[in-house]
Amino acid sequence: MKLALIGFGQAGGKIVDEFLAYDEAIDGGFVETAIAVNSATTDLHGLERIPKRNRVLIGQARVKGHGVGADNELGAEVTEEDISEVQGAIDRIPIHEIDAFLIVAGMGGGTGSGGAPVLATHLKRIYTQPVFGLGVLPATDEGGIYTLNAARSFQTFVREVDNLLVFDNEVWRDAGETVAGGYDRINKEIVERFGLLFAAGEVHHDDHVAESVVDSSEIINTLEGGVSTIGYARETVDNADDGLLSTFRETETFDEGTATNRMTSLVRKATLGRLTLPCDVASADRGLVVSTGPPEHLNRKGVERGRQWLEDETGSMEIRGGDYPRPNQDEVGAIVLLSGVTDVPRIDQLQQVAIEAQDTTEMVQARAEEDLTSLVDTGGELDALF
Ligand code: GDP
Repeated sequence: MKLALIGFGQAGGKIVDEFLAYDEAIDGGFVETAIAVNSATTDLHGLERIPKRNRVLIGQARVKGHGVGADNELGAEVTEEDISEVQGAIDRIPIHEIDAFLIVAGMGGGTGSGGAPVLATHLKRIYTQPVFGLGVLPATDEGGIYTLNAARSFQTFVREVDNLLVFDNEVWRDAGETVAGGYDRINKEIVERFGLLFAAGEVHHDDHVAESVVDSSEIINTLEGGVSTIGYARETVDNADDGLLSTFRETETFDEGTATNRMTSLVRKATLGRLTLPCDVASADRGLVVSTGPPEHLNRKGVERGRQWLEDETGSMEIRGGDYPRPNQDEVGAIVLLSGVTDVPRIDQLQQVAIEAQDTTEMVQARAEEDLTSLVDTGGELDALF
């Protein structure tokens, strides 16, 4: 499916930059336009692939290109004030060519956290295309303010988009990594999962023999509302294009069964392994199973069994399935999109910590005011100047 990608804030911009690299690397064709919006000039300069004319600086009158810090209320305000600047870049998108908007943002910061929901509201008011969000949750050790920002942004962003796809930094970080090195690796994990899903919806039926390719409308229908998470599992296979075709043909009967079992087990691994947002799979409302790899390894029976297994796991009757044929690959994989998930312990925990952080902040502020009053107060023995 063709997307207009809008990266909001530093994380959002970097991830969209990475999406462009991935789209090019796999020849996916899912990025129609890529835009970055930020209140910090240096972050916009740091981007590599998003065209310069699509980099929009907002809040200049208020923060002079220095960013909003981690103040997401200010992030929301400057976005509202400068929405026409953002619209200027959006006006250049060939709207009739896109299937959806995708707004990408780190939810713990200021610009993306506050601005992304404002932009979603704006786009939904103007366009008929669905507006999806890709929100990145902060790791737990980032501190109270990031958690509070993320919890408040999450609440607003979910309400304003057609679906919020979530990626949790906490689950994907590795001990012993530098923050920058960690983000580079994590961003690659992000774009691979979501990129494969969107690229799957971009294969046209006449491109390949498979009649069971995923359609962009199937992705859109699966993303009908609420919150989504993605699982992905893959395995290396002998590629028939490597000159092994004859071997493959000779053992076709055997391979048929192997391919079926492999695909079914990949669907299970993708679902029960590390999700972009861990959740109770049974709470998903809808799902989509996509098998990827060389066409000769894409086994309908395997996908169908995987799909049925997911129906049983979720108790949902709305589990779709399809292929994303990728000739010349030496891997087969399964992408599982779970949508409308509601049992998400991480979100409950995030909200709990956010409420505590909010209470503590209010208490500290009140005490600081009292302390300042007592510091300045001389019991009426000195008069202020005015
Ligand atoms: P903003 O520029 O004010 O929107 O804030 P940032 O985007 O810098 O940071 C928001 C949050 O995003 C942080 O709390 C981190 O959790 C996360 N973050 C920052 N940079 C990256 C990145 O490159 N990748 C990922 N996955 N997360 C990031």
